[in-house]
Amino acid sequence: MELPRRFAGKVAIVTASTQGIGFGIARRLGLEGASVVVSSRKQKNVDEAVAALKSQGIDAIGVVCHVSNEKQRNNLIQQTVQKFGHIDVLVSNAAANPSTEAILNMPESILDKLWEVNVKASILLLQAAQPYLSKGSSVILISSISAFHPPPTMSMYGVTKAALLALAKALSSELAPDTRINCLAPGFVPTHFAGFITENEAIRKEIEGKCPLGRLGTTEDMAAAAAFLASDDASYVTGETLVVAGGTPSRL
Ligand code: NAP
Repeated sequence: MELPRRFAGKVAIVTASTQGIGFGIARRLGLEGASVVVSSRKQKNVDEAVAALKSQGIDAIGVVCHVSNEKQRNNLIQQTVQKFGHIDVLVSNAAANPSTEAILNMPESILDKLWEVNVKASILLLQAAQPYLSKGSSVILISSISAFHPPPTMSMYGVTKAALLALAKALSSELAPDTRINCLAPGFVPTHFAGFITENEAIRKEIEGKCPLGRLGTTEDMAAAAAFLASDDASYVTGETLVVAGGTPSRL
């Protein structure tokens, strides 16, 4: 399929983008013409992702950034601005899911980590990026189908992902009219992050059974939807959540 060139001349930052959904989004934006800035915690992963993108003709740079680290967040923004001058697309994709404990058994340190990585880091990253967001720019927060029906083993994670839906609503006014912000809520995609679910045959079958389209999602499914939200095709869409989950029950 020949892709459109909706991001020619545009600059996109995607956090947690050296594999999985983040990498898929960076790749798609790059194939549509964006200069992309990939990042994650490990230099080796960053280098490999940049090389993979460049091998496909994509203009890419990489910056190490653990999203909870203020210095590294600021460096990600500054490196981008020094190289490209502005930011057109910001995808906040990093998340942690460190425990399968029930919420009422969860230690405070885990509650703090979930809040810090899954919610607070997105806010702080956006604070750092805001001065450089171009007119017509787009921010995407990666939420989850778990925001709507938090599964028992991922319940607090689901709560933090639900917070992102409200965050997009709240920030849509603060960022208007020059910048739009939306959430993307993926269904289950067989990545490293979701391996403990998707690699379990019984659970995978259960997930597929609840999905009218009868399959897991792909990183390409998520990337295509993110590219829509980031593009001018969605220029009248802000404060919304796009569920990309094959019809898995979410909300009316
Ligand atoms: P993944 O394939 O496991 O990739 C995770 C990426 O994040 C890696 O590049 C990793 O690289 C990086 N990373 C991890 N922690 C980080 C941190 N604190 N700061 C910066 N980078 C970090 O994960 P994924 O499944 O694509 O998940 C991406 C997003 O999609 C998450 O927000 C997740 O909640 C959401 N999501 C996933 C699914 C699913 O089924 N897969 C469903 C709904 C929502 P390093 O190790 O080098 O840091």
